[in-house]
Amino acid sequence: MSDPVLKVENLTKHYPVHRGILRRQIGSVQAMTDVSFEVARGETLAVVGESGCGKSTMGRTVLRLIEPTSGRISLEGQNVTDMPRPELREMRRRMQIIFQDPYGSLNPRMTVRETLAEPLLLHGVTDRAGLDDRIDEVLSLSGLSSFHAERYPHEFSGGQRQRVGIARALATRPGLIVCDEPVSALDVSLQAQIVNLLQKLQRDFGLAYVFISHDLSVVRHIADRVAVMYLGRFVEQAPVETLFSRPLHPYTRSLIKRVPLPDPTRIRDETPARGDVPSALSPPSGCAFHPRCPMATDLCKEVRPESRAIGETFVACHHAEQQLEARVVAPVERKTLARRLAVLEKAGKIAQTPTNTKNHKAGNTR
Ligand code: ADP
Ligand code: MG
Repeated sequence: MSDPVLKVENLTKHYPVHRGILRRQIGSVQAMTDVSFEVARGETLAVVGESGCGKSTMGRTVLRLIEPTSGRISLEGQNVTDMPRPELREMRRRMQIIFQDPYGSLNPRMTVRETLAEPLLLHGVTDRAGLDDRIDEVLSLSGLSSFHAERYPHEFSGGQRQRVGIARALATRPGLIVCDEPVSALDVSLQAQIVNLLQKLQRDFGLAYVFISHDLSVVRHIADRVAVMYLGRFVEQAPVETLFSRPLHPYTRSLIKRVPLPDPTRIRDETPARGDVPSALSPPSGCAFHPRCPMATDLCKEVRPESRAIGETFVACHHAEQQLEARVVAPVERKTLARRLAVLEKAGKIAQTPTNTKNHKAGNTR
């Protein structure tokens, strides 16, 4: 990739765990290990994975809101990994974050004007004379009006509050925004509005996004590339269409199979990943996914698979080629699928096929 906005190499964050009055370190939470990726101008890299997989740790460490244990972060060609605080503050202008819960991240005692003025003045984006104009401008870009500036966070609806969060991130003219589950707390129609707004802003300003989400249907809509995170590691990274049409890691497959899609040719898999995510305090040996993986062999228990390239995909699985071979017999799969569909439909387990969608739609009309 030529001149990525963000380049992350082998980034690792292990939180030490202490116990006793001497605060002896008894272990560490391996929240993120050896994560590498790049994001270009105008590009969205989505990071997906179940809760506790290290997504937020990754997002915050990239911005150095959390200090990395090791690894390297470059923003717009500058190494920010060891950058001292005064210089880092200047770089902070170029990298911003939007949180899932804007209520929690906005100061309840500050009006929107005060919330927006703070970063603008701190980073010298504008002087006092230009302040009101810039505030009006970012409010308008975020789909709000000038009169919203005098209001407090509690006076907004959830969707509007997220717009305030976006306005604050946008204010300093960043090149990169980390979006940490920005629409996860909103209902579906608001989700679409906020996602569309983020996409428009990306087009207008060439923003690079790291878009963290556990919702694959949102990711499919907004991402250019997707990284799948499991117990602190990227297990698969691919362009969005490749990832959804040809997932090579069993964990990716289990995540995709769990997406509830209103598509009659898709049926929910009976065996998504078994059990819960193990503790990051003592991840399983070998491939950390092996205790939940339907394909696991002795090799997986003993040897951690390195990430390797297969086509445009980077994948860390000993058995990734088998997934590729499975694709070759796709026509047979389709026939089997049709048979299974017919059976399920007869049994009343699925609601709709192309022949009876009319009823389904009528049932949904409010
Ligand atoms: P996600 O955003 O994917 O849900 P997190 O990054 O929040 O994941 O958490 C990853 C792992 O790190 C979890 O096991 C979590 O309990 C642990 N963790 C997060 N923050 C801390 C912290 N400050 N100290 C110790 N462990 C932490
Ligand atoms: Mg999180």
